Amino acid sequence: MASVLIIEDEVELVKVLRAYLEQAGFTVFTAGRGDTGLSAWEHKRPDLVILDLNLPGMDGLDVAREIRRKSTTPIIMLTARVEETDQLIGLELGADDYITKPFSPRIVVARARALLRRSEGAATPAQVLRVLDLEIDLEAHSVTRAGELLDLTPTEFNLLAAMAAQPGRAFTRMQLLEAALGSAYEGYERTIDAHIKNLRAKLEPDPRNPRYIETVFGVGYRFARP
Ligand code: CA
Repeated sequence: MASVLIIEDEVELVKVLRAYLEQAGFTVFTAGRGDTGLSAWEHKRPDLVILDLNLPGMDGLDVAREIRRKSTTPIIMLTARVEETDQLIGLELGADDYITKPFSPRIVVARARALLRRSEGAATPAQVLRVLDLEIDLEAHSVTRAGELLDLTPTEFNLLAAMAAQPGRAFTRMQLLEAALGSAYEGYERTIDAHIKNLRAKLEPDPRNPRYIETVFGVGYRFARP
């Protein structure tokens, strides 16, 4: 059974969301402040976080950033206005989905399910990823660009496969390090830069103007949207 942490200060909204999510089979934890929400996340390690943007104690953006620094737990951000959603998407801080208030609780349940399916899917992905003109065979650990085989190290392959599985998503160096090496090595995030540089040298026709792997300043890297 999947667990969800709702971090939201509107008591009525929390009540309704809790009822719908429990009805849908989720175990629900709640927190009414940003700071208590973050410590609840530390203790409960839920499968999914539903996070309000404007919170007392600690801003929702800071909560998301802290969670992202330590994990890839899917986050659904609740925002009050469409413009806020646009801003958040511009920030690319790692929330996986955004829902603008007011919303139907059914939408939240549907998005939560979809997001969990997606994150489970990332653990057991399709055998072959086809993005842009790349074909990434996850079983054979081989990559072709426009039919031509590329010679990548296992680390480079893991990095590329992780990013290409979710085009457009920004990954932090820590997340990439986990993807590349299977676990987090705090303090070694910058080694990712070296791997990315090597990967680009092999992958990109012009590594200084990358077509496939884009730099997200202040965050990390992402695979280009097709
Ligand atoms: Ca609020």
